[in-house]
Amino acid sequence: MKFRRFVGSALVATLLTAPISLSHENKKISFSENFTELASSSKYLHGKGVELENCINDTMPLEISRIRRLIGLKDKSNPTIIYTVFPDMVTLGKYYSDTIAIDTSKVYYDRRNTCSELAGHEAGHFGLDNISLEMGNGHWPPQYSMESDSLRFWWDKTVSEGFATLLSGREFKLNLKWPKTISELSHAHHYYLGSRLLSGLVQEFGYKRLIPVVITNPAADSEVFQPQIWQKRIRHLMNAHK
Ligand SMILES: [Zn+2]
Repeated sequence: MKFRRFVGSALVATLLTAPISLSHENKKISFSENFTELASSSKYLHGKGVELENCINDTMPLEISRIRRLIGLKDKSNPTIIYTVFPDMVTLGKYYSDTIAIDTSKVYYDRRNTCSELAGHEAGHFGLDNISLEMGNGHWPPQYSMESDSLRFWWDKTVSEGFATLLSGREFKLNLKWPKTISELSHAHHYYLGSRLLSGLVQEFGYKRLIPVVITNPAADSEVFQPQIWQKRIRHLMNAHK
């Protein structure tokens, strides 16, 4: 099912960004090519960018270790970190297939805690992907669902950004209503809606037990608009496998 894309209207929601680019000038781009191309523009670093790069270099290994323990990831490999310039106004970081790309060009990155939040958020995506691989479940979120305008795409992105937001320790002070129809789905609020969707379940069951169940049980189309039914199903599954 198709719905209209709505990207990047709210800074609060897009400060920490998606594990995969949605589109660039309405044209789908190959992510790996994009990374290579963008990496070469890192010469545009300015003073604050260098400061951010140094902070991320110091913080990322700590965040990876913290998240590895938190979610029970056994794999000891580390992501490749590249410093780059994303051609939009809001993207600060991206994770894709064992590479974390950090933008060093934005002037607003120095808001309080951004370095550790950014490192924690992208380390969270790295951890979730690798837990899924460790389970023999392939990459997560699955690439196919991240490349299309579907309810599954919207759901996977919401869950992915929700987990990464919670793992980074960030809290949103928004109060948005959960979308009830396709026309209300937006790509601006995954972070807030996703963290709200998952925070109670995380508190109840913990990341280690919850993540494998959540990533292998995406919402059915009808559940996308009734998250409480999905949450009930997840609780039932969790309690059945104690
Ligand atoms: Zn993200």
